[in-house]
Amino acid sequence: MDIHFIPAFTDNYIYAVTADAACWIIDPGTAEPVLRWIQQHRCPPTAILCTHHHADHVGGVAALAAQFKIPVYGANTRIPALTHPLEEGKYDIDGLPVTIMELPGHTRDHLAFRVDHHLFCGDTLFAAGCGRLFEGTPAQMLHSLDRLAALPQATQVYCAHEYTLSNLRFARHLEPDHPLLRDRQQQAERQILAGQPTLPSTIGLERASNPFLRVREPSVIAAAQAHDPGVPNDPLSIFTALRSWKDRFQ
Ligand SMILES: [Zn+2]
Repeated sequence: MDIHFIPAFTDNYIYAVTADAACWIIDPGTAEPVLRWIQQHRCPPTAILCTHHHADHVGGVAALAAQFKIPVYGANTRIPALTHPLEEGKYDIDGLPVTIMELPGHTRDHLAFRVDHHLFCGDTLFAAGCGRLFEGTPAQMLHSLDRLAALPQATQVYCAHEYTLSNLRFARHLEPDHPLLRDRQQQAERQILAGQPTLPSTIGLERASNPFLRVREPSVIAAAQAHDPGVPNDPLSIFTALRSWKDRFQ
């Protein structure tokens, strides 16, 4: 199985996943770069999978589905041209076993796809960060992130945006002395300068350095309480405080 990055807009990644009988397009926010990729790789798509309904993830779905006459998988009819609604559970798509996780928070019906040790998590988990809460509650998002954090450490994490450097600036503001964050920032800066994605990450790396997966760590609790005195030190209160701080962080 091969995973290809198709950059789109300013910071989206559309993914093409290829295997024997499969060529999936995940979260095609726009058709044009996908069509270019298909032509270059001579790889007609077999299915479209969508993590959630935001326009920068589904804007190209209808055109691609119509042109290639392929099924569209997603949570529900908020996904354009949907043919196969998905729920939490195990599926076989084009001969590949896929585990679907329902992860509300960024939206109320956000999905992640796991194939083997690869995770496509849309706008739920980012490298060193997490998605904004558009429809879900902090409690839902924290539960979704905790479920991802419980996956095997070696799981490769493919996020839908290149937000790593911005997220690392916030993470280092919280934990300036965390050596892993310094290393991650240096590596991400090198990758961006070289025009490369900073992804995939791994669940192990995120557990060790992503503040939104570390709301039970004394250093992260202390940073949240220093910024926002009076925040109780339970995980949900810390997560809620961090998420709203990050929304305003420059
Ligand atoms: Zn989104």
